[in-house]
Amino acid sequence: MSAPAPIPFIDLGPGEDEAAVRAAINRVVARGWFVLGPEVDAFEHEFAAASGAAFAIGVGSGTDAIALSLRALDIGVGDEVIVPAMTAAFTALAVIIAGATPVLVDVEPDTLTMNANACLAAVTRRTRAIVPVHLYGQPADMDAIRSVASRHALAIVEDCCQAHLATESGIPVGTRSEAAAFSFYPTKNLGGVGDGGAVITSNDAIASRIRQLRNGGQRERGNHVEAGVNSRLDDLQAAVLRARLPLLPAWTIGRRALAGRYRQLLPESLRTIRERDAGHVYHLFPVLAPERAELQAHLAAAGIDTMVHYPAALTQQPAFAAFASHECPVAVSAAGQLLSLPLSPRLTDEDIIRVADSVAAFAKGHRTA
Ligand SMILES: *Cc1c(COP(=O)(O)O)cnc(C)c1O
Repeated sequence: MSAPAPIPFIDLGPGEDEAAVRAAINRVVARGWFVLGPEVDAFEHEFAAASGAAFAIGVGSGTDAIALSLRALDIGVGDEVIVPAMTAAFTALAVIIAGATPVLVDVEPDTLTMNANACLAAVTRRTRAIVPVHLYGQPADMDAIRSVASRHALAIVEDCCQAHLATESGIPVGTRSEAAAFSFYPTKNLGGVGDGGAVITSNDAIASRIRQLRNGGQRERGNHVEAGVNSRLDDLQAAVLRARLPLLPAWTIGRRALAGRYRQLLPESLRTIRERDAGHVYHLFPVLAPERAELQAHLAAAGIDTMVHYPAALTQQPAFAAFASHECPVAVSAAGQLLSLPLSPRLTDEDIIRVADSVAAFAKGHRTA
């Protein structure tokens, strides 16, 4: 019997969208308008509608989407912004890019999203905003976080970089806060053919300010009223994202179905992330394995590719040593055990069965069992 085909962690090569993506690229090349052109304008309207917001503003990356949202709220030097310790480092880097100070707090043990009590305990006179992260595609405990924010008059900028089309108690993520940030990095649930991002907001003033900030601080051409940045979504990315956006609902349904199969098939003893909200869009499917390295090697030997999101809590990263003022034992412990199994809309039910069987075979002889 020949070895079964490898199961990649993600496959970004041509897929069902290939013809639409090529047509989009050709359209931009033929038009010869590459920055802040008609594709960006059309995508902004389409993405705002898909996200349930009044406005979407295309920017250079998800990181910039967070940073520019904070700047649009006049948050910067001397201000503190609370960020969970288990997330992509870019969440906290965005706070630093905005000139503010990230304050790292612990996460909940069952969902690894921001712990609202830890957030409350970290509020000081300097705190201006909270950046909750909808980690792995699952909304953070926003009711609890909103109550901290309203009690202390803090802004909320949601990090939705892993949560395209996710809903929180049935309502689209990002739509009940001042602003929310999305990434279109190629591996995200909606990805381009390079870097890209967007801010959504339903506040007209915030939307205008971000449009100004992303384009060098120009109010109109040649009139720089503030020191903005160069962070514009380009037309090539916007055109590709427009080609893919109509497919995103079906891809999201596919992700949820595959995640549901993992939950049925994986050994019960293996810790997974609890699904607190059915609006979870399963950007990733991590498990917590005390013997992670061995499990990863076992799966690799079976041709199954896995990744770690994330190998360190932000408090453990040298870059954030100055901001690790709160202990984050839950994030630190999780960082030592997390292993993301392959989950993408291109995988089949057979792929999931193979992964689950391989995990079960490993679990039999290990503590993970
Ligand atoms: C991807 C990601 C970011 C950063 O987005 P970029 O487009 O890569 O800058 C920020 N936060 C989270 C949670 C992410 O997954």
